Amino acid sequence: MQIQTGKRIELIDITDRVRKYVTDSGVVDGICVISTKHTTASIIVNENESGLVSDILKLLEKLAPAHAGYAHDRIDNNADSHLKAVLLGNSEAIPVISGKPMLGTWQSIFLVEFDGPRTREVNVTVISSN
Ligand code: ZN
Repeated sequence: MQIQTGKRIELIDITDRVRKYVTDSGVVDGICVISTKHTTASIIVNENESGLVSDILKLLEKLAPAHAGYAHDRIDNNADSHLKAVLLGNSEAIPVISGKPMLGTWQSIFLVEFDGPRTREVNVTVISSN
């Protein structure tokens, strides 16, 4: 799926879109892998609550602040975007049970943009265990 992001750094909830991919795949039991091939974006699972979303962004800014003298900034000035993506990773794997991704009540799937706005590609691979 293609996702247009709107800010330099933001979390975009893609849970409903992933659910639709899983449903459309026809897989009843198996595993769903959500991944992105970008080096300045991540995929995470957590709670979609506005305070928490802001806390996550603040934590990442603390761990990898922008323009802190990074070597990669000499090339394209976005080292902090890569470092934030390294911290969160580029994929998540979720079990598929009875045709649905097995997510907890408070779990949402997010694409995390670190160098937007851009058009991002997210891949959803659904594998049947039957
Ligand atoms: Zn770069």
